[in-house]
Amino acid sequence: MKEFLDFLSRGKFRIPICDNCHTKIWPPSNICNNCYSKRIRMSKLDRKGRLIEHSESFIGENKNLGLVEMSGIRIIGVLSEGGLTPGSVVKLKKCGLDKNNSPYYEFSSA
Ligand SMILES: [Zn+2]
Repeated sequence: MKEFLDFLSRGKFRIPICDNCHTKIWPPSNICNNCYSKRIRMSKLDRKGRLIEHSESFIGENKNLGLVEMSGIRIIGVLSEGGLTPGSVVKLKKCGLDKNNSPYYEFSSA
């Protein structure tokens, strides 16, 4: 979804919300996955979330990855500090596009 990536490339996290039924559309799409409306608006989310699980990735760079639930949506991101355990409150510290134009998210403790 172009609008989503445009915001993300500027470090802003906005997700599409259906104007018709108010569903958060995640993963981002141009069409509501609940009522199929195309009336979508980009909306800010609370940047605080909760760590659900984490794992260390040894593929490529050594990164501590976590699955975070934030306002009902789930995002996989990099944990910028150690010592976070499932249930920890975290916040989205940074987001953007990496050199391959893939979204990245970075979380730290809140
Ligand atoms: Zn809808």
